[in-house]
Amino acid sequence: MRRLAQTLDAVKATRSRTEKVSLLAAFLAGLTEAELDGAARVIVAAPLRVSDQRTPGVGWALLLEAAAAASGRTEHELMLATRAAGDFGEALEPAFPLTGATFPLAQVAPFFEALAAVGDRPSKLAVLKDTFRKATGGEVKYLVKALLGELRIGVQRSTFDDALAKAFELEPAAVRAASALTPDAGVLAALARNRALESASVVVGNVVAFMLATPAEAVKEPIDPALTIVEDKLDGVRVQAHVRDGVVRLFARGTGEVTASFPEVVTTLAPLQRSLILDGEVIAVTKDGSPRPFQALQARLGRSSPSAADRQDTPVAFVAFDLLHDERPLLDRPFTERRASLEALPVRTNPIHPLDPAQPVEPQLDVLFHAARSRGHEGLMLKRTDATYDAGKRGSAWRKVKRALATLDVVITRAEPGHGKRAGVLSDYTFAVWRNDTLVEIGKAYSGLTDAEIALLTVRLERLTLGHHGHQRLVRPEIVLEVAFDGLQPSTRHDSGFALRFPRIARIRDDKQPQDADRIDTVRALFEAQVRSGHRERDAQLSLFDG
Ligand code: AMP
Repeated sequence: MRRLAQTLDAVKATRSRTEKVSLLAAFLAGLTEAELDGAARVIVAAPLRVSDQRTPGVGWALLLEAAAAASGRTEHELMLATRAAGDFGEALEPAFPLTGATFPLAQVAPFFEALAAVGDRPSKLAVLKDTFRKATGGEVKYLVKALLGELRIGVQRSTFDDALAKAFELEPAAVRAASALTPDAGVLAALARNRALESASVVVGNVVAFMLATPAEAVKEPIDPALTIVEDKLDGVRVQAHVRDGVVRLFARGTGEVTASFPEVVTTLAPLQRSLILDGEVIAVTKDGSPRPFQALQARLGRSSPSAADRQDTPVAFVAFDLLHDERPLLDRPFTERRASLEALPVRTNPIHPLDPAQPVEPQLDVLFHAARSRGHEGLMLKRTDATYDAGKRGSAWRKVKRALATLDVVITRAEPGHGKRAGVLSDYTFAVWRNDTLVEIGKAYSGLTDAEIALLTVRLERLTLGHHGHQRLVRPEIVLEVAFDGLQPSTRHDSGFALRFPRIARIRDDKQPQDADRIDTVRALFEAQVRSGHRERDAQLSLFDG
């Protein structure tokens, strides 16, 4: 595994995607099948198969304890090192001696499986310690990162897919097509190595990569109203439902199998006497089935076996919007045809609205957008009726219309370094609005600015630093940002009493003085307007707010 760790260090060190692909390809090309499986699991940070109902079940605390025992450092020392490095995995590497021992790459997949196979903490700890003792610091670093689900080396799944193509001299397009039907990187790697990509196919029970939408504003081509339908954008969890012989399995985007979390969905779909793959959204609903906002669903997320009380308090529903398989694969059929088959099934579907080609598009979208918001949905999805289901692609066939609720002018009060390539700059900003003569914090944002803007802000914020608090700097409140967000929520997290949903920086407002920033009264008025419009529930639970 030593070469894998060295390769990943080199991959991290370069910004060039082509170079990342070449480095990975050169490494992957020479591996045995067992080694390839281990490498793939580490590179995409997915220790277990997607269809595996288990998890490795190791968190930060357990990893810390094992790493301390194996390296001979104290947990406290490792925690201090983590704070300094900004990343747990990175901090571990120098804690281990540069011994000659190296963990065999072919043992990596069995190591992940062994962790999942034992349930109790002492056994998991024993497996971890045993492995860490046989590994170099660099190896431990990547095993830990994979177990924590993120490598932070700038490698997306598509980068890995392209590396496989290069390693085994295959067409990148062919690898990507097979990848969309083969969620497990290790399985895909074996297909590539054995030149068996064509055997990748839609199988009920194997999750298909989700088709994704592009923000409408990011698509240049105009909308063709004759070939576009509009749906409400539901605010829940994207779920693919697989049904065969009365057995239902649910897979959520990003988190894998969630069948046990939503037993009522299983009960609804189990009677369907067909083999099906449905694409849709699990949403929280009221007793009469009307949609509730995402925050309401929070009470059910992470509950892998909800109690009767959970189900009673927060009922959920699966709302289907696409059909990928109905006795046979439908991915290649146009949306209209898939939709017609979907409507023939006795399942709850998301209604579609046609556009009138004789009328201008924008005013029609405005009306539909407000109607969607008044029904409690996030926005709109625009879908081409002639488009196939492009598994794993974020193209222009689906466009999403979210529209910010509003923007606020805010003052930066604290700043901290980001992660990965932003570890050296101050890229995460906490900001505030005025309550009388005092600034009260309302949120935190780290997206929206270019690298150049962040670099300049870093220099300015360093000069404005009043003091340090761990990673954070308290700064003199001088810099005004315009922040866009999708919703407001009462919160105890910030002293303003509010938090922003999905805040992102729209621009730096150097044309404004701190005293020109918005006041809490404006925030309150926006919140009241939002409650009146029905966009968010007043008392909903909060957690996905400002990240
Ligand atoms: P975003 O998460 O903002 O990138 O938006 C994409 C997500 O919108 C998808 O992954 C789905 O979970 C969700 N979504 C909600 N309603 C729909 C719909 N009608 N069609 C497709 N995706 C939808």
